[in-house]
Amino acid sequence: MIDPFGRKVSYLRVSVTDRCDLRCVYCMAEDMTFLPKAEVLTLEELDRLCGAFIALGTEKIRLTGGEPLVRKNVISLFRSLGARLGEGGLKELTVTTNGTQLARMAEDLYAAGVRRINVSLDSLDPATFTALTRWGKIGPTLDGIFAAKAAGLAVKINAVAMKGVNEHEFDRMLVWCGEHGFDLCLIETMPMGEISDDRTDQYLPLSVVRSRLREHWTLQETDYKTGGPARYYTVKETGRRIGFITPLTHNFCESCNRVRLTCTGTLYMCLGQDDSSDLRRVLRDPKVDEAGLKEAILEAISRKPKGHDFVIDRRRNAPAVARHMSVTGG
Ligand code: SAM
Ligand code: SF4
Repeated sequence: MIDPFGRKVSYLRVSVTDRCDLRCVYCMAEDMTFLPKAEVLTLEELDRLCGAFIALGTEKIRLTGGEPLVRKNVISLFRSLGARLGEGGLKELTVTTNGTQLARMAEDLYAAGVRRINVSLDSLDPATFTALTRWGKIGPTLDGIFAAKAAGLAVKINAVAMKGVNEHEFDRMLVWCGEHGFDLCLIETMPMGEISDDRTDQYLPLSVVRSRLREHWTLQETDYKTGGPARYYTVKETGRRIGFITPLTHNFCESCNRVRLTCTGTLYMCLGQDDSSDLRRVLRDPKVDEAGLKEAILEAISRKPKGHDFVIDRRRNAPAVARHMSVTGG
């Protein structure tokens, strides 16, 4: 799958549910209305759609959400996709999770073929964690992270950098990640969906964070790339990596290799744009066969835009896109 700008699209992110057991302040409003179940693709439909993407050259699939691990029986989707690893054409199956369910699921994920996972953890301070997630407790997430490590999964910690909230914690988080063998990836807040707080109050440019970290740490340039937007450095003192995802201070669209499927079968060709393709309609149309499904996917790829234009400023406080990150999958 090659888009109009010559980019190879080999990475599919799938939001398997819009629901979540937490309500992170930058991601969701407190009183979210979730989709009725009938609108959500079944796990079998998701598997069939992913199968069509793999047949068209998708090499990497990440399941996300909402919280992917709260979807009932989601492990069966991991298993069916895991069976497509290797000879089936898929090279990597991975997941982004808040970690709350990992303690009971880490071993099953490994057995299904998952080898690396991203766990979101914005703070190591229990009170800050609860404030940020509106009601979460840090214990289950930490237990989940250590269960994942024990199961043999490589863990990358994702933290959204927020002004005045967790900005004083990054030194400590680097130490903690170094001790436990985790990479760390810091993310700038992106203007997606209406939330209760003012995003201009939350926004912290990572260029500032990086300079501050350099006062205490040696960040060595590396050419390590995951095909994603993160810019990685090796932290000399710990030997682990730190990544910075900076959609607002740096444009990363030239190397974009991904598209995003929602749990209702809507394909977004760009995280920061509204254009989409309704693959559920195609999938559920009895007149459309496998070839027709693939044709619809290729047509959508031919509309992948050049890039996003996220802006956060006081004059334009409205989100750049109306949907929440939990819809498209972060
Ligand atoms: N529930 C899972 C989790 O939290 O990891 C997966 C879905 S969550 C939407 C994926 C990632 O998106 C998380 O790392 C989260 O911190 C990030 N995220 C959510 N809303 C965001 C926003 N407005 N700006 C930047 N990152 C955001
Ligand atoms: Fe849930 Fe993840 Fe969004 Fe937090 S970031 S509310 S854990 S979907």
